[in-house]
Amino acid sequence: MRVLIIEDERKIASALKKTLEQEHYAVDVSHDGDDGLAMATTEPYDVMIIDRMLPGEHDGLDIVKSVREKSIATPILMLTALGGVNDKTDGLDSGADDYLVKPFALEELLARIRALLRRPVEQQSTILDAEDLSLDTNKRSVKRRGKEIRLTSKEFGLLEYLLRNKNRPLSKNSIMQHVWDYDADILPNTIEVYIKYLRAKIDKPFGGKGLIKTVRGFGYKIEDDKK
Ligand code: CA
Repeated sequence: MRVLIIEDERKIASALKKTLEQEHYAVDVSHDGDDGLAMATTEPYDVMIIDRMLPGEHDGLDIVKSVREKSIATPILMLTALGGVNDKTDGLDSGADDYLVKPFALEELLARIRALLRRPVEQQSTILDAEDLSLDTNKRSVKRRGKEIRLTSKEFGLLEYLLRNKNRPLSKNSIMQHVWDYDADILPNTIEVYIKYLRAKIDKPFGGKGLIKTVRGFGYKIEDDKK
């Protein structure tokens, strides 16, 4: 899951980035409103964390409004140093999904982010599955036929993205954009290499036909014959 943070206070921004990366999110950071607006409206994110007061022409409210005007439905958490009732309603009226007042505990922020990611109806469950494989997004565990499978952070992110879009072919480009951050060193074969790692762990040891299918000339999908 890829997150955008737009926050001019560098200490807060880097603490958020570090915390979210420990939780296996791919994270991009912008420190001003103009740059942040450009990223928010052009790159595909799964969640955005936007500070309300930002340097530049566009503040947090402008960014949220522009994002929603472009019909981008990505969940947005607004941050603010102001805690008045009006600030909260302004933030939510502009199209943000939730609102957090500074200072806040990082645990609280993570809980809100998790809640936002679960919000769409089809994602209410934190257990994602395909046939006899299941992934628990909270415990960060993966099991197949009851057997625990250990994955690296990137492998887990890749599997989670495939499972959230089960039975849907995903282009290599879309996989790259949702699982890797902007600054990541991506080589032309990076996705293939990670798919190979993942197959070696979730498919090979279990025999039969693999869950991860190659969609020739396009990308990959996870197939679940039961659903
Ligand atoms: Ca600020």
